[in-house]
Amino acid sequence: MPRSPGLRLALLCLAAAAALAASGAPAARAQTSCADCCMLPCIEGQLWEAAYMKGVYQRMSKIKGLSEAAFAQREADAHQLASAIRGMYVGANPHCAWYMPPQGSPEERRFVLAGYKPIHDASGAVTGWNYDLEMDVKDCTMDKRKLDIYPSLTPCEGMARAVLDHEQKHIDDCDRQQTKGLSAPGPAQRAKNEVNGYEAEMNALQQVRRQAAQACTEKSCPDRPWDFERAARLFHTDIQAILGLGKVKSPSKSPLRRGGARG
Ligand SMILES: [Zn+2]
Repeated sequence: MPRSPGLRLALLCLAAAAALAASGAPAARAQTSCADCCMLPCIEGQLWEAAYMKGVYQRMSKIKGLSEAAFAQREADAHQLASAIRGMYVGANPHCAWYMPPQGSPEERRFVLAGYKPIHDASGAVTGWNYDLEMDVKDCTMDKRKLDIYPSLTPCEGMARAVLDHEQKHIDDCDRQQTKGLSAPGPAQRAKNEVNGYEAEMNALQQVRRQAAQACTEKSCPDRPWDFERAARLFHTDIQAILGLGKVKSPSKSPLRRGGARG
């Protein structure tokens, strides 16, 4: 099967991770459950980005004769835009910060050994991490050390699980291609594969979102109600609607029709 030897397919769909990781540096933490109302804006942000990227790839898959260069440029532009918008939305919300290992810690060394790369500023301080996952197209695998760490990186566990569902689609597509002895997919086919990947991610996120919404009460996250108000406005989120209660009204207040007063 014709493949460029040593070619590695970087899955840029995770570019947002690096940008978001730069948005905060929480202390070490255990795995956090997404069944928490405070996580809802973070989940919404990821869902929005997945939906946006899916649309971009859907359009790209229909462009006849799209060159590799044009594909790469459009992909990079879309990731940059989606990541920036998601960053604007969740960047200041501490619940939505990605985990960063303490500088100089054994954990940081473990991250580096696994292949994750710290991003430094001019003074050498770590300002973020590149948490992209990559699949090795030679054998359709991802680095196990990276995968082991990944679920602890996202703001809550279910968000990572959704990304891994997405990546599993790529592994499955790669396996299928190799089993059938097909040539490496061109831009249009890769765009279709991404549509499938984002669809899997969105399916998982919709479950995760529902679990988060189920945990909402009028007293949830009273310290940062504006995060929810902003979520409601930007993403037309309605917790009642997510839970299938009553009619869809968007945008509306959340969590659960809390009063409009701001603290
Ligand atoms: Zn992907």
